[in-house]
Amino acid sequence: MLSADTAAKIAAGEVIVRPASVVKELVENSIDAGARKIEIYLENAGKSVIRVTDSGEGIASREVELAIQRFATSKLSSADDLERICTYGFRGEALASIGEVSELTIETQKAGEESGMLLRVKAGKILERKEIVRTPGTTVTVSNLFFNLPARRAFLKSEPYERRLLLDVVRSYALLEFEVRFDAATQRETLLAFAPAKNWTDRIVETYPALAGKNLIRIGENHPMLNLDGFLLPPDEAREQGRLQKTFFNGRPVLYRSVYRAVVEGFGATHAATAPLFILKLDSPPEMLDANIHPAKTEVRYRDERFLFDFVSQAVRKAMHREAVQTQKSLLPPVPLGSGYDNSRDNQLRLEVSSLVPADNEAAEDFISPQEQGPVAQPEHSGFWQLKNSFIMAQVPSGLIIVDQHAAHERILFEEMLERLGKNPVRQPLLFPLVVELSAEEFATFEMIADELKELGFDAKPFGKSEVIVEAFPADARMTPVELAELFREFNADSEVKLGNRERMAALIACKSAVKVGRALTQPEMESLINRLFSCKTPFFCPHGRPTVIKFSMEDLDKRFGRI
Ligand code: ADP
Ligand code: MG
Repeated sequence: MLSADTAAKIAAGEVIVRPASVVKELVENSIDAGARKIEIYLENAGKSVIRVTDSGEGIASREVELAIQRFATSKLSSADDLERICTYGFRGEALASIGEVSELTIETQKAGEESGMLLRVKAGKILERKEIVRTPGTTVTVSNLFFNLPARRAFLKSEPYERRLLLDVVRSYALLEFEVRFDAATQRETLLAFAPAKNWTDRIVETYPALAGKNLIRIGENHPMLNLDGFLLPPDEAREQGRLQKTFFNGRPVLYRSVYRAVVEGFGATHAATAPLFILKLDSPPEMLDANIHPAKTEVRYRDERFLFDFVSQAVRKAMHREAVQTQKSLLPPVPLGSGYDNSRDNQLRLEVSSLVPADNEAAEDFISPQEQGPVAQPEHSGFWQLKNSFIMAQVPSGLIIVDQHAAHERILFEEMLERLGKNPVRQPLLFPLVVELSAEEFATFEMIADELKELGFDAKPFGKSEVIVEAFPADARMTPVELAELFREFNADSEVKLGNRERMAALIACKSAVKVGRALTQPEMESLINRLFSCKTPFFCPHGRPTVIKFSMEDLDKRFGRI
């Protein structure tokens, strides 16, 4: 049988596994106590000393001893309360657990009281208690973590590693509580210093400086059972930023796989390599959230997982759509260099333009002789460029976008076909109907899916026993007879298609009939393609999940050119 002592140590080990878990518990308590200022001091990455000092409400002298007893919590008075947990702490285990496996000192004074209390505990035994006087607030010092659990101590990794985990915990809370000042330091150096921020965005950039100047997209959605607020960075921009995916649920940083999956789904990125960046705050009535499934409370479960998933992915889709509309609106007309420039549109535009061309026109003139300026300034140039007849480039106020013409057209055709499902599909009658010869198996597949194809705008009828005559394509689709034959082969090879999956069919049709790479496009064609792309619901990915658009912000360019 386990001794009570061993049992207590095991219980402690569930919550406290390394310095970072101590910091997590202490910082949570400080936030719960309403601290506006939280200071963290470390020795040996917390292996020797972790000290957290806060300006919170403090603990009343007569309650300090209670605070270190297991299941003593000031935050929970009945079992019913378990259902409504709003503060970080609620199990009353953290301080007790830490006290079991370290030397723990609490120095605290409650605001309005004349004196406070110092309590020193080692391996669960009280060593010292005395009256002290200090400014209101609490200092908790944890020394020699796991001194009595050598195996656990040996399991700790190198100091840089433990420090990184620990600072990541601090960053998470700093991200969430933007009005709280956070400082972390060792004897020798400052590790983090976050002054109270004016708003959430400022704190995000302060916490993750690489996000400065990035086009963070705000996301937000309200529902009585769930609120969402946060920021996204589309996958193509997120790629260079490293992994940053934070979810806070009812004020707690959590790992929530299905939230991650919902975001990916919302981006329309089925491609596994596409990891978006996001910081999301979810809030629900406490009874909707089971926060008690993990001892350290790092995992939670929302009562209606399906609702949560749809809610998040739709919010992402909406935000990206809004972003697309914005990008579309901001596609700029040409930048006339030189004389034509002065009588151009309104001031706002001029501002945008001036940030895209050299500030003084002389610099531009150095590059372009007066004779050369003429053709560049031709007003009919609409501001789209095609590279190698494959990629379309256009400028937006924040920089440059490059569109993959094939992937973009695929996305457009795909959505247009699905959009018209159940309504009247838009057909494009062929002047000369096409006849394709199919194998017996392909023909059988065709007969199985003939109705669905019709709904998608494909007018095809059996013609004899092994041929199909196609009289209309979905609007804007184009296929040669060879491609058409390939398409029927692909239908036949795809088990999803055989099950009647219209999305699969639409994706295959879109892929076959979208404009090919290597095809020259006219200015109006490029313009229309881009406009239609940004009117799509999920403009940033083709139906296979590959990106349709890549963006270079002015910031990216400045960085590449060593300007910043
Ligand atoms: P819990 O946070 O789950 O209640 P803890 O063991 O973390 O359990 O803390 C026990 C109690 O000690 C808390 O409920 C709170 O009343 C008190 N306490 C702990 N840390 C602080 C602090 N920094 N400021 C004020 N009170 C604190
Ligand atoms: Mg706590």
